[in-house]
Amino acid sequence: MTAKTSLADQLAANGGPKAVQHPFATGQRYADNELDYLREALEQNTLFYGFGNMVKRACAKMCEYTGRPHVVACSSGTAAVHLGLIACGIGPGDEVITTPNTDSGTVIGIIEEGAVPVFCDPDFHLQPTAEAIEARISAHTRAVVVVHLAGYPAPMDEIVELCSARGIGIVEDCAQSWGTKLHGRLVGTFGTAGCYSTNDFKHISTGDGGFVALDDESLYRRVSNYSDKHYDRLFDLTQRQAHHAVNYRMSELQGAVALAQLEKVDRITARHHEMREALLTGVGDVPGTSFVSPVPGGYSTYWWTVIWIDEQKFTESRDRIVELMQAEGVPASSYGNYDLIGKPLFQTRVVRDWLDDERRHYPFTQPDGRAYHYSYDQTPRHARMLRTGIMIGINTFYSDRDVRAIAAGVRKVLDAVAR
Ligand SMILES: *Cc1c(COP(=O)(O)O)cnc(C)c1O
Repeated sequence: MTAKTSLADQLAANGGPKAVQHPFATGQRYADNELDYLREALEQNTLFYGFGNMVKRACAKMCEYTGRPHVVACSSGTAAVHLGLIACGIGPGDEVITTPNTDSGTVIGIIEEGAVPVFCDPDFHLQPTAEAIEARISAHTRAVVVVHLAGYPAPMDEIVELCSARGIGIVEDCAQSWGTKLHGRLVGTFGTAGCYSTNDFKHISTGDGGFVALDDESLYRRVSNYSDKHYDRLFDLTQRQAHHAVNYRMSELQGAVALAQLEKVDRITARHHEMREALLTGVGDVPGTSFVSPVPGGYSTYWWTVIWIDEQKFTESRDRIVELMQAEGVPASSYGNYDLIGKPLFQTRVVRDWLDDERRHYPFTQPDGRAYHYSYDQTPRHARMLRTGIMIGINTFYSDRDVRAIAAGVRKVLDAVAR
């Protein structure tokens, strides 16, 4: 029996012992000040943000966290990105450049405004580069939504330089990047608007919710009003219903939980950072693989991570390697097969069916005759990443032992299938 065969025999898929032998550690997400603040919210006898203090306190905490002077709370991350686009002044017919490896929440606001998403190619840091954005700029480009995917920062210095010279607004989608930094500065503080989600699948949660962080006072009023039926409620009421708007309000209950969650966000994101470093060390160097890395100067808070593999160097396909890892108890999945992340949006029904429905051609067909079509050819690096990435999930409550066991499982499979 060769050494290789015996490694293969050891795989859990072939009847060997699983690398992860114990259940992963779990914990309570809402066991700190959440209950006290919720009680306080209820005792206010109003759950409306305009009359209560919880959402206002959560916004003040967000100002402190981001260092930005103005924060608007809202009902979701999707709402936050939409409001960020409002801050950039987008409207019908504008083009908004973004990356295809993201949640549909990134593009919903673009489409709602009658603007058109234009996809640029992300790089192997998972982020857009200034060059990729520049290649998609046209006379219609009004804004860029930079998605700091999976807790990895995009190269904001170059992106800001590119966009500010051309008067193009920047929305930062920070839904997956709480605590993420570039050169020591938090993402969400570089562009026109920093947009956050607190849905149940992010570093911190209020069930659903979001925040938009801004510097400019007049944009603050515009965004605040757009999120609340343009009542001009927090201002002098002179702008009351002067403009169309939506209702994206956050309730006091979410505000109460947000306040408690924000008290521990730094601890949570630091732990995510630490776990991914431990995972990297635990797996070590394997020829034909590389972990996704942050751009130079980047500090990642790893909402999840990806290993890129060179299939030539292995005896099994990427999807088979993922199955072997899953059999070991490793939380692995093929990049792109996990919800919307990685799958290009144009492959999803949100765009595809709209293109098929005559009444819904707008905004993909514009009154001036412009027509938009989407394909993998526009984002070849992304297409390649979809074939070669293995996502490894990270959970806030994993213990050091869990991370070591996951790393051992990853290593075990890669060693067994190495050519
Ligand atoms: C979760 C997410 C959103 C949308 O947030 P919701 O709160 O679910 O609306 C937007 N962009 C990215 C990158 C996300 O991960």
